[in-house]
Amino acid sequence: MTNKHSHCSFCGIREEEANYLFKSDLAGQHDDLYICDQCLETGYRVIHNAAGKGDFDLNLVKPKEIKHFLDQYIIGQDRAKKIIAVAVYNHFKRLMHESATGLLDVVEIQKSNILLIGPTGSGKTLIAQTLARMLNVPFAIADATTLTEAGYVGEDVETVIFRLLQQAGDDVAKAQQGIIYIDEIDKISRKSESRSITRDVSGEGVQQALLKILEGTVVNVPLHPGRKHPHDEFVKIDTKNILFICGGAFDGLNELVDERKNRKLIGFMSSTNKPHETLEEDRIESEDLIKYGIIPELVGRLPIVTSLTELTEEQLVLIMTEPKNALVKQYQKLLEYDNIILKFTTEALGLIAKLAIEKKIGARALRSIAEALMLDHMYDIPANGKKKTITINRESIEEKFPQIRQLDQHAA
Ligand code: ADP
Repeated sequence: MTNKHSHCSFCGIREEEANYLFKSDLAGQHDDLYICDQCLETGYRVIHNAAGKGDFDLNLVKPKEIKHFLDQYIIGQDRAKKIIAVAVYNHFKRLMHESATGLLDVVEIQKSNILLIGPTGSGKTLIAQTLARMLNVPFAIADATTLTEAGYVGEDVETVIFRLLQQAGDDVAKAQQGIIYIDEIDKISRKSESRSITRDVSGEGVQQALLKILEGTVVNVPLHPGRKHPHDEFVKIDTKNILFICGGAFDGLNELVDERKNRKLIGFMSSTNKPHETLEEDRIESEDLIKYGIIPELVGRLPIVTSLTELTEEQLVLIMTEPKNALVKQYQKLLEYDNIILKFTTEALGLIAKLAIEKKIGARALRSIAEALMLDHMYDIPANGKKKTITINRESIEEKFPQIRQLDQHAA
């Protein structure tokens, strides 16, 4: 029993304000020793995290298995998937070795942070997300354009680490082995003469802040921000083993690569006039990224650079039909519950892909087009549950998207 003046001996909270107040077992000797539920919880977390005892089990899968897993969800981008599979394998091998021995080897293996260069909607975020799911590690996404240097209005770089900790269920050990995807990294490049990017100073400041967490630093993160409690501990998250995947479209990078190549060719007195190539990873060098406006130190911390290609019409069709969670499969499943069989003709799928290409946002356009096509059908679901077949064909698409007639003619 507690008396009405009892309070937590650790944080001082009064009995009336606490959910529970536990009295010391040593009754008689320490009648007035109490601990509140929140102090108990905080204590538990601190001990649990300090011991690094997450229920975290890292399965070391081989690069081929990683690639195979990615293949089930990501269409195309074969070379990128292969490069990422090897990088991620090496990353986690390094971590496992470190946790097994408690120290890094004499030969310190550098962390393989990854830079993904590719147009919008080509699968950059999806790859990072799928990797995290496969490896069963926490995952957080941040948009570089919303990040600010500490002290400015906006989202601190540290907030991203907090989100990762949340994803890890407040398990520090788990969070420290998570994956963070930073999108639109190209938009915080510093101003270069050849391009007109207005964010100059702030861009570089954010790059510096990012550099710190990519290099590995200890970030103080509150366990429960917003919850007022005198003993609310800050936990320390070491970012040195967090895998960072950065992504961006890097519009205009191709020209910088060409420029450099031409400079070298001129140097060799060569008159070869090569046609404009697509952006290939082995064409991109650190100096191109630096010229683009990424600070050299940050380029140095992103040793794996790979590019994703724009998706073709055929690939967009595959995206709609092949992955485990493909759009067409999802709609079919949804309607199956109402006894409706949904079919898409091959021609219809091709036309949807054409419409998507026109929107220039890659595979992102597929969902909104499909939603528009399916809305009336979903609305008209018969109440009697009678068996029905719906077929999406050329006519269905022409009705909703008359512009397809012209697009299709152009292509023919
Ligand atoms: P971004 O390259 O802009 O990060 P996302 O990965 O966010 O693009 O892609 C948006 C959506 O488009 C994904 O959630 C997924 O549904 C689809 N998508 C994009 N690229 C692919 C791909 N290569 N394979 C399968 N689906 C894809």
